[in-house]
Amino acid sequence: MKTPLLQFTDKGIYCKQADVYLDPWRPVDKAIITHGHADHSRWGNKEYITHHKNIPIISHRLGEIKSTGIEWGETFTINNVKFSLYPAGHIIGSSQVRVEHKGEVRVFTGDYKTEDDGISTPYEAIKCHTFITECTFGLPAFKWLPQQEVLSDINNWWQENKNEGKTSILFGYSLGKAQRLLKYLDTGIGTIYTHGAIENMTEVLRPLASFPPTKLITKETTKKDLPGNIVLAPPSAHGSSWIRKMVPYVTASASGWMTFRGARRRRAIDKGFVLSDHCDWQGLLSSIEATGAEKVICTHGYSDIFSEISARIRL
Ligand SMILES: [Zn+2]
Repeated sequence: MKTPLLQFTDKGIYCKQADVYLDPWRPVDKAIITHGHADHSRWGNKEYITHHKNIPIISHRLGEIKSTGIEWGETFTINNVKFSLYPAGHIIGSSQVRVEHKGEVRVFTGDYKTEDDGISTPYEAIKCHTFITECTFGLPAFKWLPQQEVLSDINNWWQENKNEGKTSILFGYSLGKAQRLLKYLDTGIGTIYTHGAIENMTEVLRPLASFPPTKLITKETTKKDLPGNIVLAPPSAHGSSWIRKMVPYVTASASGWMTFRGARRRRAIDKGFVLSDHCDWQGLLSSIEATGAEKVICTHGYSDIFSEISARIRL
């Protein structure tokens, strides 16, 4: 039997012909990395090949690594297999990987979203024979509103909390979501304070995109500094003693999972904003369509349900 161009192994997606792994979860010699999130760029690989904008991000997270930076659409060949990276629109420097060998083309999306967030290079559909797509939100219940609506709701929420003399605490992942929120927060309302994890990552990203000024919360930050202002914090800070010092406050989370009210209640968060750096159901369907792929393989999330329902819709 012919060796598939990309296969699933216990170390991750593997291209045997080139002896290279895509986003491996165990250390390998040569890894092509789609983006900087911890579940995609892990420590211990001998060589990292990735978009050049992702290099400062993974270097910040992983320390000293051997890396090669690639430009969008630039072809690099390993053992006669042609690889190239195309924008995935998920976070800064996030890529899809196009693999071509003997006329066959496969694309691995990594994480992606179709909406232009104004920070990441927008997603581009790539024609291929086989499309390996993530489907974190692969259920019809996931339907995103245009981001401008959500972001203006967030600013209105901040203003309302300010009117009541409260501090707004907004949770989002320190890489990607936090900067997307930051970019659109209305500094006319007040000051944007940050948790250290977000401040550090934003510093890494400032040369790559424009963001409003932020103020790191330090020991010198006093209780009277915060009311009326907003604090950007990673979800892990929720319930910590760090947060408790900010009373009176109101909390909110910005995530695709906020689609489910139960998710917000379980996390004991006051307000949920549905804002995701992944595709919603319709985004997945239209992306798949646009690739013209004969074969679609879904990874992550509700992959079984997604494959089944989308197959039925196609009938
Ligand atoms: Zn990701």
